[in-house]
Order: sequence, then structure tokens, then C-alpha cells
Amino acid sequence: MSALSKQELEAELKKYVGVETGPPQLAPEPVNESMIRHWCEAMGDESPVYTDAEAAARSVHRGIVAPPTMMQAWVLRGIEMADPARMARNKQTELHALLSECGYTSVVATNCEQGYTRYLRPGDRVSTTTTIESISEEKATALGIGYFINTRDVFRDQRGEEVGWMTFRVLKFRPHQQPAQAAPAAGGAAPTPRRMRPIIGHDNGWWWEAVARGELLIQKCEACGTLRHPPRAMCGDCQSIEWTSIRPKGTGTVFSHTVLHHPKFPGYEYPLVCAVIELDEGTRLVSNLVGCAPADVRIGMPVELVFENVDDEMKLPFFRPRR
Ligand SMILES: [Zn+2]
Repeated sequence: MSALSKQELEAELKKYVGVETGPPQLAPEPVNESMIRHWCEAMGDESPVYTDAEAAARSVHRGIVAPPTMMQAWVLRGIEMADPARMARNKQTELHALLSECGYTSVVATNCEQGYTRYLRPGDRVSTTTTIESISEEKATALGIGYFINTRDVFRDQRGEEVGWMTFRVLKFRPHQQPAQAAPAAGGAAPTPRRMRPIIGHDNGWWWEAVARGELLIQKCEACGTLRHPPRAMCGDCQSIEWTSIRPKGTGTVFSHTVLHHPKFPGYEYPLVCAVIELDEGTRLVSNLVGCAPADVRIGMPVELVFENVDDEMKLPFFRPRR
């Protein structure tokens, strides 16, 4: 859309360096014990100085304090951050919009550091200002070419004194073009799309090799006998890395299921029944259910293994109602 040359764009970008993105953002709530308690529960932080008034009073803090890492939570804005139309005009959104117009449409956060000057206490009211500290030259990265944008937030209390800071770096980039799945045939007919391929590595290669032979194997711990799936290096029960495999009978029941209608990925037929199958031997695996109308699938339904060729190269273990 934009007719800016790279030089013109970079001249525009320079104008944003050192600029404050907008007026200070004031925390909607003062620091309070309810939010502190929720945060500590979510993070599993059991330090009594955050939630136990008596213990906190006996501590060096002489009362409840907020976890320092919660600093940004006090001022963090909601979903409007993702919607420039709903967000007050702000130099940061403006900068991102400019880069989007020039084709750098994607963004990924790459780095964040925080520093804390003092503990926040209930009743403190935090505000923050954001400065665009620097914008890199155009860089080539694994994700695509783009610009790193560094911002610095300063957090202040109700007296205007600094309580902490945060630096944040994002890469605003032009994503690589998605490679076509396969080149069109010479006649111009598009090739039939195929299912996504599994990612095969050291720990699961043996399992996929068996599948290619039309064999379903289930990993079994040599030390404690526990079955596990998907394949992985270590037993979750006893941490042994010695394992063998069994060949299950191929019978089981539907433990849980869902029917996919949308979005439709090329190479799959919809509606697609995805089910968690509980094998009679005792472990579970995710598969597709075939030979059964989606409306007829029931939890607890007896099913049996059937291998199907999904294209000219790949077969997969599916399940169908037991005959
Ligand atoms: Zn084990």
C-alpha cells in the first residue's frame, strides 16, 4: 500500500526514536490485596509477605507488599492493545501501523527486562510512561526481515517517584512467503493437497517407522511397566529411560472426542472426528474416528484399530466402531 522507499521509511522511523508514546498510563486500580492474592495463586508464589498480614508485619517489610514481578500487571491494558481503532492515538501504535503499511505486518516479542526500585504496597497507585528508545537497521532473521524496536517503560508511584522500569524489544517483520505445498503439475492442474506431516525426531522415529509398516506400537517402561504415549525419552512415573514397546490388540473405547468443521486445512476431509482412544491395555492416544457419522460418536463406544492410506505416501492408525 505504501509507496515509501526503504530510505524514506527509515527516515520516518528515525523521527520516533526518543519519543514518548503518549501521556502516562494510570493503573485502573490502586495496589490491592485481592489482586496480589490472585497473582500469587496463579504463580504458585507462597511467600507469606504477600498474603499473610501477621507474617508480613513481622517481616522486614512491616506489612503486606506486592510481588515486584507484578509491577506491569497494575497498568497492563486490556484487549484494545490489539486494536488500534479502539486505542487512543499513541506513537507506538502509529509506528507499528507505519511498518505494517510498508509490508512489515508481523510482530514478535523477543526480549524483556525489568528492574525494581522499591516494593509496592496496598494503596500505591502506579503509572507508567513508555519511550521508544531505539529502532534497529533492517535485519534479516529466521522469521523474515524486519526492524527491532526497543521501548523503555518507567513505573512511578502516586508521588511521581520511580518504582521500577522495563525494557521491551519486538521484531516487526515481513514474514517469509509460505512455500507452496508442491509445484503445480505441468498441465496446470493443482496437486491434491496432503495431510500435514509429523515432526519426526530421535524419540519418536521408531514409532512412525512402525506406523509406515502398518503397525501400532505403544511404548512401555522397562523398569515399572507403565505404558506411555506419545513416545518420549523418559517414564513419567519412575523416570527410567529404559523402555521397550508392546503391540496392543487394537481395541479400545472412545474416551473423549470433538468434531472439527472449521477452519478447514487442505488435505483433510470434514467434518473430521478427532478422538482420544483409551486402549484396552490402558494408555490413550489421539486419532481420527472413521466409518461413523459424527452425530453417532459416543463416549465409551467400543472401537477398533484400522490402518488407512491417507495419500500415496502415508498410512495412519485410525479407529472405527468395533464390528
Ligand atoms: Zn517407569
